[in-house]
Formats: sequence, C-alpha cells, structure tokens
Amino acid sequence: MAIKKPRGTQDFLPEQIVNWHYIEQCMRDICKAYGFSEIRTPAFEDTKLFLRGIGETTDVVSKEMYTFSTGDDKEQSYTLRPENTASAVRAYLENKVYGKENLTKWFYMGSMFRHDKPQAGRYREFHQFGAEVLGSSSPVVDSEVICMIVQLLKDFGLKDLNVEVNSVGCPNCRPTYRQKLIEFFEPKKDQLCPDCQSRLYKNPLRLLDCKNETCKALSVGAPEIHEHLCEECNTHFEELKTLLDAADIQYNLNPRLVRGLDYYTKTAFEVQYTPLGAQSAVAGGGRYDGLVEELDGPHTPAIGFAMGMERLLLALEKQNLLPEPAIEPAVFIVSLGDAAKLEAFKICNTLRSAYVRAEMDGQGKSMKAQLKYANKIHAKYVIIMGDDELANQEAIIRFMETSEQETVPLTSVSERISSLVKG
Ligand code: AMP
Repeated sequence: MAIKKPRGTQDFLPEQIVNWHYIEQCMRDICKAYGFSEIRTPAFEDTKLFLRGIGETTDVVSKEMYTFSTGDDKEQSYTLRPENTASAVRAYLENKVYGKENLTKWFYMGSMFRHDKPQAGRYREFHQFGAEVLGSSSPVVDSEVICMIVQLLKDFGLKDLNVEVNSVGCPNCRPTYRQKLIEFFEPKKDQLCPDCQSRLYKNPLRLLDCKNETCKALSVGAPEIHEHLCEECNTHFEELKTLLDAADIQYNLNPRLVRGLDYYTKTAFEVQYTPLGAQSAVAGGGRYDGLVEELDGPHTPAIGFAMGMERLLLALEKQNLLPEPAIEPAVFIVSLGDAAKLEAFKICNTLRSAYVRAEMDGQGKSMKAQLKYANKIHAKYVIIMGDDELANQEAIIRFMETSEQETVPLTSVSERISSLVKG
C-alpha cells in the first residue's frame, strides 16, 4: 500500500506556497511597523517545559501532546511543541535576554503539533504566527498586540471580525472568584461532562468555556469575574478598553473567555472570523504576568497571542482575498542537436548567474514541443538556436507577447536578454 501523509497533516504544493509567502510577508511587514523582531526556537522541547509552561490540567497538555524519548536518551522526555509561548519564555531565560533589555518584543512563525481530532480548520500539524511582549505591565502593550492583529486582518481585506475581550483577574482576586465558581457548580456536579467534573476543583474557570451543551446550560447564571476583580485588575481592564476605543477597535466583552491557568492574568482576548463556522477563532492571546517566574525567571509581566495561519488562509480563500500570483519573467532556450544544446546550456548558465530565470529542454523534446513548453511557463523571451543560426554564430530572440523576432550574434545573446529582462 502506498505510504500516505499522517492524519491531520497537509502537503503544501507550489501553487499554495505562493499564498503562504504572501501572508508571511504581510506578517513580517506589520511586525516591523510595531517593532517586533523574529525568533526561531526548536520544534521540540523538554516535556517539562510544557507541563509547567502550559499547565497539566489543560487539554493541550493532558490529551494532545506528541511526547517521545529515543536513542540513548531514554530518560529524557521530549515533546513536539504544541504552541510557542513556553518556548519563547524558555529562550528569553536561557539567553538571559532580561539582563540585556527591559522590553522584549518578539514574533515567530512555525509548525505546532497537537493530537487533536482533525477536521476543517483543525489539524495535527498546523502553523502559528504569534508575538510576545515581555517586560511591560502596561495595558498599552495589551492594546498594541490587539491593534496589530486587527490591522493585519483588516489589511488582508477581512471584514466582520469579532474581537472578544475579558479580564481573568490575578492571583489576588481570582481565588475568591474560583471559590464562588466551585460553590456555583458543586450542586450540579453530577450533571457536568466528565472533563468538567475533573476540572471543577483544579481549574473551575475552564467550566465557563466548555463546548458541551449540558455544561453550557448548567453554567447559565454563573458568577462573573468582573464582579470580583481587584482594583488593580479593574483599572487595567478599564484602561485597556479606553485604549481600544481610542484605536477605533470594535470589541465585545465576553466574561466567559478564559485562559484558565494561574499564571494567566488580566487580559484575555480572541479574534474570530464567524464565516469560518465551528473553527472561527483566528487568533487568541492574553497576559501572562506569572509565567516567567513559573519557569524560574525574574518577575516579568508579559502578553502574547497566536494566530492560526491555516485558518487565516481558509478565510482569505473563502472571501477571494488571495492575490493572483505574479508571473516571473522567464527565458526559454529552444535548441536542436548536440552542438546547439551545448550553446544553450552555456547561455542558460550565464543568465542564471545574473539571476534571470532561464530554462532549456532537458527531455529531448522536438522544437514544436519546446515552444509549447515555453508558452506553458509564460516565457517572455525565447531564444531559438537551430543548425542555421549556429552555423552563423547567431541566435534568434522571439518576443512572445508580440511574436516579433530579432537576430543577434551568439556572443551577445545573454547580455541582450539580461538587459531586456532587467529593463
Ligand atoms: P491557541 O494556542 O489554542 O490559543 O490557538 C491560537 C490559534 O491557533 C487559534 O485561534 C487557531 O487559529 C489556531 N489553532 C489552534 N489549534 C489549531 C489546530 N489544531 N489546527 C489549526 N489551527 C489551530
């Protein structure tokens, strides 16, 4: 049986790669405007990083990680990264970046791996574009990252974005709220889904965003975090809202939007593109003022987000917002016979060393078939070398758009073509 790609993974062929390059370039451009620099971290890390950096009670860690140990390293457990924030924080600490600058703004793009149930918009290997700001507790940076996401998506041409924001409090105010939630759900415990039953005491905030219909119904009337925020969290949230208003960002307050871990603090947000249906979340993020310390670093307030690149591409495709790929001007050298072929090969090499896209026949095609192929690759210029031309040490250049031709000495073909291509 033919070997197939693993479930939940995708091949991206050249016609799709142009779209990836397009979105990646737009992401790089916007990061430049907002002052973010790119980082790249390993695709796999010590498993402990994710246990501590994401949290053992999350679905991602408890059910979805690709974990392995191998070779003579049997004692060491590694995991394919399911997200990149923990790795970014590890790199920040390992490279002692906190000692070199007091504000760090990084972005990344790359593959993430989660053993999830594959469906449209949900894959086992997927790509995220994300950014992290380390070293500021100001709501200015929270609003900056939200503005960056919204501007990027709007510049792609996406309309009707739904920006949801919430505050999940901090270690000062959340324990009281957690307790209130436990008290609210405890009497209904038996009716909750098995996941929520086991989360009730460990991570009760997660009960608020359970997708199970019964749990959703049971959570109606649950206490809301806003009634329990401490003064600092409340002020932070109010300032964030003022900044988003000033930036003309439309948003909805969603008290059920949680990132249910102790070191996630204050701001949580998600950007949805509703036409995507069930998998409408394009980007999500939040503040994690406690994570750097959790990973044994100095107290460093931080915020970040991640955007699903496949989901973005799905949205752009759906709305016909992907640009037509540009056609690179190409030169094709039609040659017949061994002597002409050798000359064609030399011209090809000269043009390619000047970074002009040049192609010649490598399959022993007839002259007619070579011309047909030149058309197929949208060659703008075709150099024709038959026996007669070769005998006169000449070549014909055909301008494919107009079908005009000119004859040039063999020694100046490359130069003439280069000047035509480069204008
Ligand atoms: P998260 O890291 O779970 O907050 O996800 C951030 C973004 O990554 C989501 O809003 C999605 O756009 C994308 N994403 C998360 N999981 C997947 C997946 N399994 N397949 C495709 N995209 C995903």
